[in-house]
Amino acid sequence: MTAPRLPVTRRRFIASAAALAAAPHAQPLLAAGAAGAAGAAAPAARSGFDADVIVLGAGLSGLQAALLLEENGARVRVLEARDRTGGRVHTLFDLPGHPEVGGNSFGAAYGRVLDRVRQFGLPLLDYSPRRAAHPQLEFNLGGEFIRRDRWASHPRNPFQGALRERMPWEVAGGLIAANNPLAAPEDWLSPANARLDIPAFQYARQLGLTELAAELAFSANPYFGTSAHDVSVLMQLFNDSFVKQQIAISGSMLSVLGGNGKLTAAMAGALRGDLQLRREVVAISADADSVTVSCDDGSRYRARHCVCSLPFSVLRHLRIDPPLQGAQSLALQTLPYMLNTLVFMVPRRRFWEEDGLAPAMWTDARCGTVMAQRFGADPDEVTGLVANPRGWAAEYLDRLPREEAMRRVVGEIERLRPAAKGALEAVAMHSWANDRHARGDWAVFAPGQVSAFGQHVSTANGRLHFCGEHTARANRGMEGALESGERAALEVLGSL
Ligand SMILES: Cc1cc2nc3c(=O)[nH]c(=O)nc-3n(C[C@H](O)[C@H](O)[C@H](O)COP(=O)(O)OP(=O)(O)OC[C@H]3O[C@@H](n4cnc5c(N)ncnc54)[C@H](O)[C@@H]3O)c2cc1C
Repeated sequence: MTAPRLPVTRRRFIASAAALAAAPHAQPLLAAGAAGAAGAAAPAARSGFDADVIVLGAGLSGLQAALLLEENGARVRVLEARDRTGGRVHTLFDLPGHPEVGGNSFGAAYGRVLDRVRQFGLPLLDYSPRRAAHPQLEFNLGGEFIRRDRWASHPRNPFQGALRERMPWEVAGGLIAANNPLAAPEDWLSPANARLDIPAFQYARQLGLTELAAELAFSANPYFGTSAHDVSVLMQLFNDSFVKQQIAISGSMLSVLGGNGKLTAAMAGALRGDLQLRREVVAISADADSVTVSCDDGSRYRARHCVCSLPFSVLRHLRIDPPLQGAQSLALQTLPYMLNTLVFMVPRRRFWEEDGLAPAMWTDARCGTVMAQRFGADPDEVTGLVANPRGWAAEYLDRLPREEAMRRVVGEIERLRPAAKGALEAVAMHSWANDRHARGDWAVFAPGQVSAFGQHVSTANGRLHFCGEHTARANRGMEGALESGERAALEVLGSL
């Protein structure tokens, strides 16, 4: 089932997108339209060109750029290295509950994502009632389970004053939310905020945390960096502003019913031009009139423009001619990517009923956080557990052979809670750092990097344009990817 398509002319797209550029966190600029059907000006195919635009990568940002370009009359060819579309949106359709390996939920202000979801008539699941019905997260510190009501007075609690009442995972987010000077998410890139381009650790110390408290709150299970020392707090402030924007509209945690992979599959299916899988791009060269892209199988494609959605962690291993310059080159070579590994487990027994603890837990051990997923028809049934070591813990596991890493994660959970012995079957694992088409999870700006090159990451290099979550300016995650695809499409349409 497909939602009705709105005719979109190139002129209308550019006008809308210009308005969006002025207010980049606003609602999406358009519903999709079939340019051919709408009669939009289609640039004539030029002899010697394989397309008007070659898009590298069929993740959310590349697909968004490709669709918008097609909807506005361009002839597009998409080259994707994997044997699937979606990139960092990847649903395990063959596991109970269809767990997500990548992008898993979105908020009510993810306007662009919701617009595409509606366009393809995909039903949504609001996960927030299930989460609210099962809020309990156990806390294990140094092998000991500590209940919330014992934590404030526990001798290992390193926090002071009112913070002693908060669990470690509530401290970093709470402090950042309460001390965020950004008026809007995109302000993270403003030179006026460069003084905040400092390590999260330093920021925590400035707010009065002891070293021990800063490490527990910011480094034990980091979402950004391997620890509080190698991430700029400006990036975390950006994330906080973005999250606040979502919550201001509603607290829902949405996903596509049955898996977010259905969204990227629908987007890919809506393309009219060629989408070629297993085409790993190894080189990009541009001249005054065209861009030539070479793949590892020897194939070559030429177009008037190229939109590249590859993460910089991958792109830095390709040959680019002419090379990127200055601050953008520095970004290409040095922008770090988050280490994030997931081990998916199916419970063979409800061991949590034996030890009386909730199935989900936050630990400072190498298994990281363990979340209980309730993705089935019965909202109370645990369809699976996923252990998510991040930062330092992911780095440790990523160096082990896969089977051994999975065994260690299950062994660690069994060590912490003996009732789990023999009850967990590890069925899948994904290390985003070891995934050679991602080489990390999401871009993490290190201290000083927002000021050094934040403004330059997305700058077009002649006919080579960039999109991808790392180039998003006002949105994060899946919405950021779509924002960036939209910007890149706009750049190209402005010069076709
Ligand atoms: C574990 C995890 C959890 C997440 N959770 C959330 C969440 O809850 N909410 C949220 O909003 N976001 C979340 N995200 C982030 C979100 O999924 C990403 O921001 C988004 O999917 C990135 O899209 P992209 O197009 O920028 O990159 P990608 O999806 O990585 O697209 C790049 C594409 O390029 C391809 N490629 C790479 N190298 C080559 C090559 N040499 N030649 C050709 N093609 C190549 C890749 O295969 C890929 O398909 C999560 C991500 C992860 C990994």
